[in-house]
Amino acid sequence: MTRSMGKITLARRIVQVVMLGLFCLPPLLAGWGLAGLYAGGDGEVATPAEGVFFGSLSSSAAAGIPLLDPLAALEVLASGYGLAAVGLAGAALVVVAYGLVRGRAFCGWVCPVNLIGEGVDALRRRLGIAVPERVLDRHVKIAVAAAVVAVSALVGFPVFETVSPIGAVNKGLAFSGFAGAGTLAAIVIAELFVSRRVWCRSLCPLGGLFQVLGRAGQMNVHINHDACVHCGRCEEACLADPVILAPALSGDDVIVRAGDCMACGACVDTCPARALSFSLGRLPARAQTRREERDPVAES
Ligand code: SF4
Ligand code: SF4
Repeated sequence: MTRSMGKITLARRIVQVVMLGLFCLPPLLAGWGLAGLYAGGDGEVATPAEGVFFGSLSSSAAAGIPLLDPLAALEVLASGYGLAAVGLAGAALVVVAYGLVRGRAFCGWVCPVNLIGEGVDALRRRLGIAVPERVLDRHVKIAVAAAVVAVSALVGFPVFETVSPIGAVNKGLAFSGFAGAGTLAAIVIAELFVSRRVWCRSLCPLGGLFQVLGRAGQMNVHINHDACVHCGRCEEACLADPVILAPALSGDDVIVRAGDCMACGACVDTCPARALSFSLGRLPARAQTRREERDPVAES
């Protein structure tokens, strides 16, 4: 069955592709080719690092402001290499920015692995391959994040960065850094034949770190209980884990509160009753809000 793309998903797809292009642009603007190939002659050219924006999803600089993957920063610190103040500030900036919006908005809107995972979803549907929805609990990735930092401390180097599939896409396109390509291939095979979205839902350590930050996020999916017809289509569409919608669907909450929500909007786009929308701020706990919805005068 062909699914039409909703407005939020279309916007997200544009952002995902623009983010991929953004990392390829600096080498091209500096006169280099893609995949680390120098396409110029013998004359002197600027290095891509001299542009306004340069880097990868692990580490970049925009208008002189450093941006650092917070998990990579933790791994480097645990490895004993130390980080300059500017690196720490770059990681803190990323934590605060995503923390305020939704930690896993990075996963939903920026990370190329999620984009590839969605492509695998579409391919699996087209090929008619049936796999289980969840084979691992979504909290496993928090333990993976902790393990990655602990092992980095033990072995003295940032272990995940050497096999990370996240940087593999943009580093490969821009600089021909293909470390992580093997992980990416394993993820595609696992998601095609083992379990739907197993990497992003349950294993990715960066997703685990952003999951922890996610509970502070101010961008939340809100439900109108009166409109909901309990068709379950939002759960089928959820890119994180369908179980995170349960408190809102059962009437125990008015927002999707779990830190795992990646604000992807797939549920909002899919809902036939328009019962879901995005709202700003952490709305009050469910019990009180429910009474107010039923009897606003009595509760005021
Ligand atoms: S609850 Fe909705 S917005 Fe959050 S991850 Fe699931 S589909 Fe995306
Ligand atoms: S898709 Fe909409 S109507 Fe259906 S269960 Fe989810 S919120 Fe309710």
